Amino acid sequence: MLNQAQSIISVCQRLYNKNMLAAADGNVSCRLADGNILITPSGVSKANVKPEDMALLTIEGEVIKGKPSSESLMHLQVYQKCDQAKAVVHAHPPHAIAWSVAFPDLKELPSTCLSEVILAAGSIPFADYARPGTADMGKVLLPHLPDCRLLILSRHGALSWGEDLNEAAMGMERLEHSAQILYLAQSMQQLTHLPQSEVEALKQMRKKIGPRTL
Ligand SMILES: [Zn+2]
Repeated sequence: MLNQAQSIISVCQRLYNKNMLAAADGNVSCRLADGNILITPSGVSKANVKPEDMALLTIEGEVIKGKPSSESLMHLQVYQKCDQAKAVVHAHPPHAIAWSVAFPDLKELPSTCLSEVILAAGSIPFADYARPGTADMGKVLLPHLPDCRLLILSRHGALSWGEDLNEAAMGMERLEHSAQILYLAQSMQQLTHLPQSEVEALKQMRKKIGPRTL
């Protein structure tokens, strides 16, 4: 368990250094071999988490050790619905969140402007807003699971899951990097789109890649 705790801490530091985990925001978890979930503690800056601070939960949400945040509900929902999920990252990436605030009617991050969105993820949808601390935080993810591994949580943050911690962490970086490029393009002038035939070709390539986030 110490190895997994240390891997979670490296992901926290990576995302903190990229401005995606302000104050005590966000949480990172992984599924252990025995099925239990190891997750960062509530109310602690993710830049300073230590292995002994980690909380341990059953997949049903029973606390075995430590103090998980109410946001662990989102992590549990992913593990319950996605057999392949071995790691979940929840962060507050600024550009991704800003898209949900500025364009509340968008169903997904514009994907026809950048090949990287289609090739790396297929699409990056927005999950509905849910009030912090409520069971709705888990429920709003359901329409997108298990198909989507990258989600923007409207007016709140983003969630990425993967078959290991690296996939989940890289997915979060991909999501925010794409949101930032699109924001810059929109600010400079306006978004422009790839030709429809190119979008279709990229979608075919994505099908061959499989479900992993790149
Ligand atoms: Zn959050």
